[in-house]
Parts: sequence; C-alpha cells; structure tokens
Amino acid sequence: MDLIIFLSVYLMACLVLTFLSYRKKINWWLTLIISILVTPLGGFIYYQSNNPIKVYKEARYKCRRCGFYFTEESTFCPYCEQDGHKIPLKKVYVDMT
Ligand SMILES: [Zn+2]
Repeated sequence: MDLIIFLSVYLMACLVLTFLSYRKKINWWLTLIISILVTPLGGFIYYQSNNPIKVYKEARYKCRRCGFYFTEESTFCPYCEQDGHKIPLKKVYVDMT
C-alpha cells in the first residue's frame, strides 16, 4: 500500500515538472524522461538549469508557387508576376529564434 502512495507521489512530481517545463517552453519530454529515470529531483535540476529558447512569431507572406517568403505584404508574388502568374500571397507565421 505504501508503495502505491509512493509511486503516485513520484509520478505526480514527474508530471508537475513536465507541465512546468512545457509552460517554460523547454524540452518537456526530456524533463519527463529525466524525472522518471533519475528521480524528480534530477528533473527539477534539469528544469532549473534550462532557459527557454526565445521563439517569437513573425508574419511572412508566402508564395505558393515559388515558395518564397516576403516580409512585406503585397497582393501578388512579384517574382511570379514577372513570369505572368498572378499568385496571391498567403500570410503565415514563422518561428524566429
Ligand atoms: Zn512566387
């Protein structure tokens, strides 16, 4: 019975650390693996020693035909327009580091 309680607490600690890592935007599955294998203390050390990678989203305008990304918005892709194709640009968000 004590073992079940111990395992529940152990797993809870692992999951809490995983959740915190997910919110901190660091490698959360690695925290989970470390927590289970090296005990949640190891996972906690990993969690504390890692700083999140600064990722921010930036709007880009992508052409579906040539696959080119443009920073400025325009109605049609200027490169494809030169070739005689009017390709509307699609607004996408890309991860910037
Ligand atoms: Zn294009």
